[in-house]
Amino acid sequence: MNALARHISDTIRIEGPLSLSAFMTMVLHDRHLGFYSAHESIGAHGAFVTAPEISQMFGELLGLWCAEIWRMQGGARSVRLVELGPGRGTLMRDALRAISSVPDFLGGIDVVLVEASCVLETLQREHLRDASVPIRWVRQWSDVGQDRPLFILANEFLDALPIRQFVMTANGWCERTIATDPEGELVLALAPDPTPLATPATRGDAALGAVYEISIAAEALVEEIACRIAGSGGAALFIDYGHAGVSYGDTLQAVARHKYVDVLASPGGADLSAHVDFGALVRCVKQTGACAHGPVAQGSFLRGLGIETRARQLSTQNSTKVNEIDAGMRRLIAPDEMGELFKVLAIMPAISPPPPGFETC
Ligand code: SAH
Repeated sequence: MNALARHISDTIRIEGPLSLSAFMTMVLHDRHLGFYSAHESIGAHGAFVTAPEISQMFGELLGLWCAEIWRMQGGARSVRLVELGPGRGTLMRDALRAISSVPDFLGGIDVVLVEASCVLETLQREHLRDASVPIRWVRQWSDVGQDRPLFILANEFLDALPIRQFVMTANGWCERTIATDPEGELVLALAPDPTPLATPATRGDAALGAVYEISIAAEALVEEIACRIAGSGGAALFIDYGHAGVSYGDTLQAVARHKYVDVLASPGGADLSAHVDFGALVRCVKQTGACAHGPVAQGSFLRGLGIETRARQLSTQNSTKVNEIDAGMRRLIAPDEMGELFKVLAIMPAISPPPPGFETC
């Protein structure tokens, strides 16, 4: 048992079983032992590789997407570019470099990065030290500020937010918990009493053993962001692996060194995440009066933004890297790689035509 497992086991001995949400929060964010406290959580040497780490084109195209929406919305004088969960800072670095080709937009922005991990914040500060715009770091979305329209980017952020799981039993929906066995080892368990739960009609009837997942944190965040955009303009792009029309299922997963591992095996040593329920998020957006576009598949989104043209341009400039550039693009857009599994959801003000990359949906 590692040190964080022992700490969680002690907590359960004193306070009783933990919800999956509480467990995920401890595993990901413990100040000393949590997954995101480790320096090398993301990237080739970390647990997993994300789209901005695969190719510079990802951040560039997202940055230009923001500039284009800003232009479509009339080109406000001052706006804020926000990234939720910026990882190593790579996406923002590439986005700002691309945005420098739109000086009117670049001249009016400040950047706010929402990052819970001190370790990753340090890494982001290093990677963004040459940025030509003011950058501020905050720990949570509520500190981003209300004084100007927001353009929000979030890649693989929602999947890191805690989920709760409920399992259909003969008594009804019982919450999945983390408990301990007589030796103090962490085990999956179920709350003895059912939780009254309103499951959306879109999920259909639940058989015994069906698993219902909900991320209250993700839904609340998306709803708040949609309210802001409905009221003040701007836009948000959420990119993540997930599904739009779910039934039931357990999607909680742990990944260490690019491989799936047992969720309880080494808390803090592996990333914990769950598939994003985009259908639920779209319903949240619609309640606010903002407009949800998508989700569309990442491959079709990036092709719509011209990734193939950009790849050809980069290849002409770097003739020794043609294969690398092409392989990066393939990983991002091919249906058997990230192109289909990853989805893109845009949140826009109510009266707005489909943004670039969503024209076909
Ligand atoms: N967007 C990056 C990193 C994805 S990993 C990329 O694509 O490479 C998830 C990121 O979200 C990490 O930076 C992590 O520290 C941050 N994060 C996770 N939960 C968070 C929370 N509740 N509040 C703020 N940041 C969080």
